[in-house]
Amino acid sequence: MDSEILIEARGLTRRYGPTTAVSDLSLTLRKGEILGLLGPNGAGKSTTMKMLTGNLAPTSGEAFIKGQSLHDAPTAAKKSLGYLPEQPPVYPELTVDEYLRYCADLHGIAKKERAAAVQQAKQSCGLTEVSQRLIGNLSKGYQQRVGLAQAIIHRPPVIVLDEPTVGLDPIQIREIRALIVELGKSHSVILSSHILPEIQAVCSRVMIINRGRAVYDQPVIATRNAQMESLTITLKRP
Ligand code: ATP
Repeated sequence: MDSEILIEARGLTRRYGPTTAVSDLSLTLRKGEILGLLGPNGAGKSTTMKMLTGNLAPTSGEAFIKGQSLHDAPTAAKKSLGYLPEQPPVYPELTVDEYLRYCADLHGIAKKERAAAVQQAKQSCGLTEVSQRLIGNLSKGYQQRVGLAQAIIHRPPVIVLDEPTVGLDPIQIREIRALIVELGKSHSVILSSHILPEIQAVCSRVMIINRGRAVYDQPVIATRNAQMESLTITLKRP
Protein backbone atom coordinates (compact mmCIF):
# COMPACT_ATOMS: atom_id res chain seq x y z
CA MET A 1 0.00 0.00 0.00
CA ASP A 2 1.24 3.53 -0.77
CA SER A 3 2.35 5.51 2.27
CA GLU A 4 0.68 8.70 3.51
CA ILE A 5 0.83 11.79 1.28
CA LEU A 6 2.58 14.58 3.19
CA ILE A 7 2.86 17.21 0.45
CA GLU A 8 0.58 17.58 -2.49
CA ALA A 9 1.11 20.48 -4.88
CA ARG A 10 -1.18 21.08 -7.82
CA GLY A 11 -0.42 23.33 -10.75
CA LEU A 12 1.98 25.66 -8.96
CA THR A 13 2.83 28.64 -11.13
CA ARG A 14 4.81 31.73 -10.20
CA ARG A 15 5.38 34.72 -12.40
CA TYR A 16 7.64 37.68 -11.76
CA GLY A 17 6.46 40.31 -14.21
CA PRO A 18 7.18 38.85 -17.64
CA THR A 19 9.26 35.96 -16.21
CA THR A 20 7.54 32.67 -15.45
CA ALA A 21 9.80 31.13 -12.80
CA VAL A 22 7.63 28.04 -12.23
CA SER A 23 4.92 26.76 -14.53
CA ASP A 24 2.08 24.35 -13.70
CA LEU A 25 4.21 22.21 -11.39
CA SER A 26 2.53 19.38 -9.50
CA LEU A 27 4.23 17.04 -7.07
CA THR A 28 3.50 14.57 -4.32
CA LEU A 29 5.75 13.70 -1.39
CA ARG A 30 4.93 10.53 0.51
CA LYS A 31 6.03 9.53 3.99
CA GLY A 32 9.52 8.05 3.95
CA GLU A 33 10.60 9.62 0.67
CA ILE A 34 13.64 11.78 0.04
CA LEU A 35 12.69 13.67 -3.10
CA GLY A 36 15.41 15.49 -5.02
CA LEU A 37 14.58 18.52 -7.15
CA LEU A 38 17.31 18.56 -9.76
CA GLY A 39 17.85 21.40 -12.16
CA PRO A 40 20.37 23.90 -13.46
CA ASN A 41 20.71 27.43 -12.08
CA GLY A 42 17.56 29.45 -12.62
CA ALA A 43 15.41 26.35 -13.25
CA GLY A 44 12.91 27.32 -10.56
CA LYS A 45 13.98 25.12 -7.64
CA SER A 46 14.12 27.85 -4.98
CA THR A 47 10.87 29.38 -6.18
CA THR A 48 9.21 25.96 -5.93
CA MET A 49 10.55 25.40 -2.42
CA LYS A 50 9.42 28.82 -1.25
CA MET A 51 5.91 28.03 -2.52
CA LEU A 52 5.94 24.59 -0.90
CA THR A 53 6.84 26.10 2.48
CA GLY A 54 4.41 29.01 2.39
CA ASN A 55 7.18 31.58 2.01
CA LEU A 56 5.97 32.74 -1.40
CA ALA A 57 2.42 32.88 -2.72
CA PRO A 58 1.93 31.13 -6.05
CA THR A 59 0.43 33.14 -8.88
CA SER A 60 -1.85 30.13 -9.31
CA GLY A 61 -2.05 26.59 -8.03
CA GLU A 62 -2.08 25.32 -4.47
CA ALA A 63 -0.05 23.21 -2.05
CA PHE A 64 -1.35 21.04 0.80
CA ILE A 65 0.73 19.82 3.72
CA LYS A 66 -0.78 16.79 5.45
CA GLY A 67 -4.04 17.81 3.82
CA GLN A 68 -3.91 21.39 5.13
CA SER A 69 -3.90 24.12 2.51
CA LEU A 70 -0.94 26.50 2.77
CA HIS A 71 -3.27 29.17 1.46
CA ASP A 72 -6.33 28.58 3.65
CA ALA A 73 -4.66 27.21 6.80
CA PRO A 74 -1.04 28.41 6.67
CA THR A 75 -0.34 28.17 10.40
CA ALA A 76 -1.54 24.58 10.68
CA ALA A 77 0.17 23.56 7.44
CA LYS A 78 3.52 25.11 8.39
CA LYS A 79 3.62 23.20 11.71
CA SER A 80 4.38 20.08 9.65
CA LEU A 81 7.29 21.70 7.81
CA GLY A 82 10.92 22.49 8.53
CA TYR A 83 12.75 24.67 6.01
CA LEU A 84 16.39 25.39 5.33
CA PRO A 85 16.55 28.18 2.73
CA GLU A 86 19.40 28.49 0.25
CA GLN A 87 20.74 31.49 2.11
CA PRO A 88 19.64 30.99 5.69
CA PRO A 89 19.91 33.87 8.14
CA VAL A 90 23.04 33.44 10.25
CA TYR A 91 23.22 34.75 13.81
CA PRO A 92 26.98 34.87 14.33
CA GLU A 93 26.80 36.48 17.75
CA LEU A 94 24.62 33.74 19.28
CA THR A 95 25.82 30.41 20.62
CA VAL A 96 24.32 27.27 19.10
CA ASP A 97 22.24 26.76 22.26
CA GLU A 98 20.99 30.35 22.32
CA TYR A 99 20.00 30.21 18.66
CA LEU A 100 18.18 26.88 18.95
CA ARG A 101 16.32 28.09 22.06
CA TYR A 102 15.28 31.14 20.06
CA CYS A 103 14.08 28.90 17.19
CA ALA A 104 12.15 26.73 19.66
CA ASP A 105 10.41 29.86 20.98
CA LEU A 106 9.56 30.97 17.43
CA HIS A 107 7.86 27.62 16.91
CA GLY A 108 5.89 28.04 20.12
CA ILE A 109 7.49 25.07 21.85
CA ALA A 110 6.46 25.18 25.53
CA LYS A 111 9.20 26.30 27.93
CA LYS A 112 9.14 22.97 29.79
CA GLU A 113 9.73 21.08 26.53
CA ARG A 114 12.29 23.47 25.10
CA ALA A 115 15.46 22.02 26.64
CA ALA A 116 14.56 18.52 25.41
CA ALA A 117 13.76 19.82 21.91
CA VAL A 118 17.09 21.69 21.72
CA GLN A 119 18.97 18.68 23.03
CA GLN A 120 17.38 16.33 20.52
CA ALA A 121 17.99 18.67 17.56
CA LYS A 122 21.65 19.08 18.57
CA GLN A 123 22.11 15.36 18.99
CA SER A 124 20.48 14.56 15.65
CA CYS A 125 22.75 17.05 13.86
CA GLY A 126 26.04 16.31 15.65
CA LEU A 127 26.15 19.64 17.45
CA THR A 128 26.32 18.62 21.10
CA GLU A 129 30.03 19.37 21.41
CA VAL A 130 29.69 22.88 19.98
CA SER A 131 26.62 23.94 22.03
CA GLN A 132 28.43 26.84 23.65
CA ARG A 133 30.34 28.03 20.58
CA LEU A 134 29.37 31.22 18.77
CA ILE A 135 27.78 30.37 15.42
CA GLY A 136 30.04 32.95 13.75
CA ASN A 137 33.09 30.94 14.85
CA LEU A 138 31.87 27.64 13.37
CA SER A 139 32.94 26.25 9.99
CA LYS A 140 30.48 26.53 7.11
CA GLY A 141 29.72 22.83 7.47
CA TYR A 142 28.82 23.24 11.14
CA GLN A 143 26.77 26.34 10.37
CA GLN A 144 24.81 24.19 7.93
CA ARG A 145 24.28 21.60 10.69
CA VAL A 146 22.82 24.43 12.77
CA GLY A 147 20.53 25.22 9.82
CA LEU A 148 19.39 21.59 9.75
CA ALA A 149 18.89 21.60 13.53
CA GLN A 150 16.56 24.62 13.36
CA ALA A 151 14.62 22.88 10.57
CA ILE A 152 13.88 19.84 12.76
CA ILE A 153 13.53 21.46 16.18
CA HIS A 154 9.71 21.28 16.17
CA ARG A 155 9.85 17.68 14.92
CA PRO A 156 8.09 18.27 11.63
CA PRO A 157 7.28 15.24 9.48
CA VAL A 158 8.68 17.06 6.41
CA ILE A 159 11.89 19.02 5.90
CA VAL A 160 12.60 21.12 2.81
CA LEU A 161 16.29 21.78 2.14
CA ASP A 162 17.31 24.24 -0.57
CA GLU A 163 20.75 23.37 -2.02
CA PRO A 164 22.07 22.35 1.41
CA THR A 165 25.62 21.56 0.26
CA VAL A 166 26.36 24.65 -1.84
CA GLY A 167 29.55 26.42 -0.79
CA LEU A 168 30.85 23.54 1.35
CA ASP A 169 34.19 21.78 0.91
CA PRO A 170 34.25 18.10 -0.16
CA ILE A 171 34.50 16.72 3.39
CA GLN A 172 31.68 18.95 4.63
CA ILE A 173 29.60 17.93 1.61
CA ARG A 174 30.07 14.26 2.44
CA GLU A 175 29.14 14.88 6.10
CA ILE A 176 26.04 16.93 5.30
CA ARG A 177 24.84 14.36 2.73
CA ALA A 178 25.28 11.59 5.31
CA LEU A 179 23.41 13.66 7.88
CA ILE A 180 20.50 14.23 5.46
CA VAL A 181 20.29 10.48 4.80
CA GLU A 182 20.16 9.95 8.57
CA LEU A 183 17.48 12.63 9.03
CA GLY A 184 15.58 10.97 6.20
CA LYS A 185 15.00 7.97 8.47
CA SER A 186 12.71 10.03 10.69
CA HIS A 187 11.58 12.81 8.33
CA SER A 188 10.40 12.93 4.75
CA VAL A 189 12.63 15.25 2.79
CA ILE A 190 12.61 17.45 -0.29
CA LEU A 191 16.02 18.71 -1.25
CA SER A 192 17.21 20.67 -4.24
CA SER A 193 20.50 20.34 -6.03
CA HIS A 194 22.05 20.92 -9.42
CA ILE A 195 24.33 17.90 -8.93
CA LEU A 196 23.02 14.56 -10.22
CA PRO A 197 25.44 12.41 -8.16
CA GLU A 198 24.28 14.22 -5.01
CA ILE A 199 20.65 13.35 -5.77
CA GLN A 200 21.67 9.76 -6.55
CA ALA A 201 23.60 9.51 -3.27
CA VAL A 202 20.90 10.93 -1.04
CA CYS A 203 17.43 10.66 -2.61
CA SER A 204 14.87 7.94 -3.25
CA ARG A 205 13.12 9.87 -6.04
CA VAL A 206 14.14 12.62 -8.44
CA MET A 207 12.14 15.32 -10.14
CA ILE A 208 13.97 17.29 -12.80
CA ILE A 209 12.96 20.90 -13.25
CA ASN A 210 13.93 22.80 -16.34
CA ARG A 211 12.78 26.33 -17.15
CA GLY A 212 10.18 26.12 -14.40
CA ARG A 213 8.62 22.88 -15.59
CA ALA A 214 8.82 19.40 -14.13
CA VAL A 215 10.19 17.29 -16.96
CA TYR A 216 11.01 14.01 -15.17
CA ASP A 217 9.78 12.29 -12.00
CA GLN A 218 11.08 8.79 -11.24
CA PRO A 219 12.61 6.69 -8.46
CA VAL A 220 16.35 7.37 -8.28
CA ILE A 221 17.06 3.71 -8.97
CA ALA A 222 15.57 4.20 -12.44
CA THR A 223 18.02 7.03 -13.13
CA ARG A 224 21.19 4.99 -13.10
CA ASN A 225 21.35 4.78 -16.85
CA ALA A 226 22.84 6.64 -19.76
CA GLN A 227 19.55 8.18 -20.83
CA MET A 228 19.29 10.06 -17.53
CA GLU A 229 22.90 11.22 -17.74
CA SER A 230 22.35 12.62 -21.21
CA LEU A 231 19.11 14.30 -20.13
CA THR A 232 20.85 16.26 -17.37
CA ILE A 233 23.79 17.12 -19.57
CA THR A 234 21.34 18.51 -22.12
CA LEU A 235 19.61 20.57 -19.44
CA LYS A 236 22.89 22.10 -18.34
CA ARG A 237 23.68 23.43 -21.79
CA PRO A 238 22.76 27.12 -22.17
P1 ATP B 1 19.59 28.60 -8.42
O1 ATP B 1 20.11 27.20 -8.46
O2 ATP B 1 20.45 29.58 -9.17
O3 ATP B 1 19.19 29.07 -7.06
P2 ATP B 1 16.81 28.01 -9.01
O4 ATP B 1 16.61 26.76 -9.78
O5 ATP B 1 16.60 27.94 -7.55
O6 ATP B 1 18.24 28.59 -9.34
P3 ATP B 1 14.99 30.23 -8.97
O7 ATP B 1 15.81 31.01 -8.00
O8 ATP B 1 13.72 29.65 -8.47
O9 ATP B 1 15.84 29.10 -9.66
O10 ATP B 1 14.68 31.21 -10.20
C1 ATP B 1 13.85 30.81 -11.30
C2 ATP B 1 13.69 32.00 -12.24
O11 ATP B 1 12.94 33.04 -11.61
C3 ATP B 1 15.02 32.63 -12.67
O12 ATP B 1 14.88 33.06 -14.00
C4 ATP B 1 15.14 33.82 -11.74
O13 ATP B 1 15.90 34.84 -12.33
C5 ATP B 1 13.70 34.24 -11.56
N1 ATP B 1 13.46 34.86 -10.25
C6 ATP B 1 13.59 34.27 -9.05
N2 ATP B 1 13.27 35.13 -8.06
C7 ATP B 1 12.92 36.30 -8.67
C8 ATP B 1 12.48 37.59 -8.18
N3 ATP B 1 12.32 37.82 -6.88
N4 ATP B 1 12.22 38.53 -9.10
C9 ATP B 1 12.36 38.29 -10.42
N5 ATP B 1 12.75 37.11 -10.95
C10 ATP B 1 13.04 36.13 -10.09
